[in-house]
Amino acid sequence: MKKIIVWFRKDLRLHDNPVLWEAAKQGIIIPVFIWSEEEEREYAGSEATRWWLHHTLLTLERNLKAKGLPLILRLGNSLEELTSICKQTKADAVFFAERFEPFIISRDSEITKSLLLRGLEVRLFSANLLFTPSNLLNQKNEPYKVFTSFWKKTMIESVNLPLSVPVNMVSYNKSIPTLRVSDLGLLSTIGWDEKFHMYWDPGENGAIKKWGNFTSEGLSRYVKDRDIPSSSSTSLLSAHLAWGDISVRAIWHSVKGLNEIESSEYMHESIQAFLRQLIWREFAYNQLIYFPTILHTPLREKFKKFPWRGSDEEFLKWQKGLTGYPLVDAGMRELWETGTIHNRIRMVVASFLTKHLLISWEEGSEWFKKTLVDFDAANNAMGWQWVAGSGIDAAPYFRIFNPIIQSKKFDPDGIYIRKWVPELAKIPSKYIHEPWKAPKNVLMECDVVLGKTYPLPIIDHSFARMRALEAYAQIKN
Ligand code: FAD
Repeated sequence: MKKIIVWFRKDLRLHDNPVLWEAAKQGIIIPVFIWSEEEEREYAGSEATRWWLHHTLLTLERNLKAKGLPLILRLGNSLEELTSICKQTKADAVFFAERFEPFIISRDSEITKSLLLRGLEVRLFSANLLFTPSNLLNQKNEPYKVFTSFWKKTMIESVNLPLSVPVNMVSYNKSIPTLRVSDLGLLSTIGWDEKFHMYWDPGENGAIKKWGNFTSEGLSRYVKDRDIPSSSSTSLLSAHLAWGDISVRAIWHSVKGLNEIESSEYMHESIQAFLRQLIWREFAYNQLIYFPTILHTPLREKFKKFPWRGSDEEFLKWQKGLTGYPLVDAGMRELWETGTIHNRIRMVVASFLTKHLLISWEEGSEWFKKTLVDFDAANNAMGWQWVAGSGIDAAPYFRIFNPIIQSKKFDPDGIYIRKWVPELAKIPSKYIHEPWKAPKNVLMECDVVLGKTYPLPIIDHSFARMRALEAYAQIKN
């Protein structure tokens, strides 16, 4: 029987894993995960994402073991480790799933060449997107630049049905040198991630559970409440999707199935809105594939000359949630505490950084990379360039989110603000969005001393808006 190395990468699951499925069909399975700090720096390089990876790997290791398959863990250069495992096991083939980050694509191509030269069979599978990217080109055979057209195109394409967990998997039965998950050095030495356990359950089992909870609770409210940060009506699956703990195709078909049995118009709308978000993810990957400079360069040429101000002091206040704008501060503190921010608030804090403070989206994107458990190179770059106005089909630059109006609209009673900015917890809803407007006696009764217990706004909104528009005028023509 053929001996096949199943190289796990960002498809850390047993269900709907075409790599594992095909290997199970064809031969003896040697499951492998290699952590290469140097190769992953740009794509999985933060403490938050590595914390996630550590725990996802523990689950993967356990789930494989339950099927009689010991996971081989290695640390170092991917090609060297794969070559060494191939020699130790006398493997015949290496199977793995596609990734789309620019450096990883060229690394994988080098690895493929080298393995082929050694006489191994190499097969690449598609595991983490709904569609094959080359099937999503427009009539001119070019990538879509407008989301609505992209969305329409996806609506006429079909998504492969998910595969189940293979039943009969034959394991390689000799022992090979391996490490423990803890030897990979993925956990932060700072310890700020200790509290993540309160919020997350990384890995395939946690993902499936979360999906179940979402379909029975959040999904029905998705269309109405998904912009309300205190409503718990989104799936919170992004980190699971980023590591492939759960299959996006399985989610797609599960939702489509619900759509068929549901009769309520409201549920249909929620399902449609949710599918649309999955297509935004797909759109982000298409941008990464066809415009890989998205990670570091504005996609709109004129933004290369944008007069970013930069300010270390204001950047620090933004990072710490001390801008004096309660909704912005709540978001930044939620991020630090939990490793995530609600999508609506991501837009608000990103707009505040790039437009109110005129600090480059790249600095914001780096901070998100360090702190998000769901950091995903494609989604993050698209999100930041969208907000900054420099991306494809981005928000127009002159659309400057007003953090006070956003706050009144999406957190009217200040539930979200009170949770993450406890020093404002007692302030009546009328003033919670702009506490500097509260009368002195109200502030006193609520134990708030502006400038001491909570900062005054670091910048005036109207002034910031005008300044941002002037900066944009410099690059407009
Ligand atoms: P749900 O609303 O339940 O959506 C389901 C899934 O669809 C998500 O898990 C995600 O995979 C995908 N999705 C949802 N919204 C978007 C979107 N706007 N763009 C692309 N995919 C989307 N998402 C990341 O996964 N990683 C990031 O690093 C990331 N950085 C972002 C940075 C900025 C500045 C902005 C504005 C958005 C960013 N997003 C990122 C997109 C979005 O905020 C998150 O995907 C979403 O908040 C995750 O919550 P959820 O899983 O509950 O989403």
